[in-house]
Amino acid sequence: MKKIAVYPGSFDPVTNGHIDIIRRGLRIIDELIVLVSYNPDKSSLFTVEERIDMIKEVIGNNPRVRIDSFPGLLVDYVRKEGADIILRGLRAVSDFEYEFQMAIMNRRLNRDIETVFLMTGYKWFYASSQLIKEVASLGGSVGGIVPDIVRKKLQEKYSK
Ligand code: ADP
Repeated sequence: MKKIAVYPGSFDPVTNGHIDIIRRGLRIIDELIVLVSYNPDKSSLFTVEERIDMIKEVIGNNPRVRIDSFPGLLVDYVRKEGADIILRGLRAVSDFEYEFQMAIMNRRLNRDIETVFLMTGYKWFYASSQLIKEVASLGGSVGGIVPDIVRKKLQEKYSK
């Protein structure tokens, strides 16, 4: 049976750390859905459409990867798509507590879904969308931490 996983996140914007998780995730699962979340509590720099477009452009045409968005409960989306894995990445200990809570809550909501974590690639340990936005907003260079298309989009946003 095909192993389908959902990789949810804000991806505001997608970084090389996210891309690394996607590439490595594809080594252990058959199909991956990158799910851009709407989080009304978090203000975002890019619209959901902009975030999806950037991920699409970076991933290119890969029949094993799909990009989508969903406003509802993650576990409902996972079941709707016939998936049973939630893929997440872990950087520092500071990620752990939130990820742990989410994984336990999602398992409580649906026991058939497992959350699988991949450790960050050491090069992307400090690659966080939040930090990248802060640096870019002040005119700092984020080349090499985000795909080039994302670097350009950040520049456009902050030069307005
Ligand atoms: P969220 O707002 O849901 O945390 P993010 O876009 O920040 O969304 O992250 C999505 C997932 O990717 C999370 O599991 C996060 O820990 C992981 N992630 C983010 N940046 C990295 C990175 N540099 N290396 C590994 N995993 C990462």
